[in-house]
Amino acid sequence: MTKSRSRKLAFIHKWQRILRLGDWKITYEEKAWPHKTYSGRTRFDRNEMMAVVNIRKGMTAEYWRITVVHELMHLRIPFFFPKDSWAEQELERGVEMTARALLKLEAKR
Ligand SMILES: [Zn+2]
Repeated sequence: MTKSRSRKLAFIHKWQRILRLGDWKITYEEKAWPHKTYSGRTRFDRNEMMAVVNIRKGMTAEYWRITVVHELMHLRIPFFFPKDSWAEQELERGVEMTARALLKLEAKR
């Protein structure tokens, strides 16, 4: 495992603890999505409590951290179905604002 990957996994595990997602088995993969498509996506199986966090390759370190916390937040605040575009947009905004606020708070500790 590269240093960079182990640092990233340590960050993910730290936030898994902060968000009390300790029961989940969370893995991480980078994706070569084109710019301005996805920053991150999370696939999860709630019965098995397994999740794969996918993050776009080549992001700045700061945006990578925001995106990881955002994606982990989706396990705390899951999508509900059926969803419409308004609900999805508001959910995404709420998750993003919360992720950024939590990262700021954590940086001050
Ligand atoms: Zn999202």
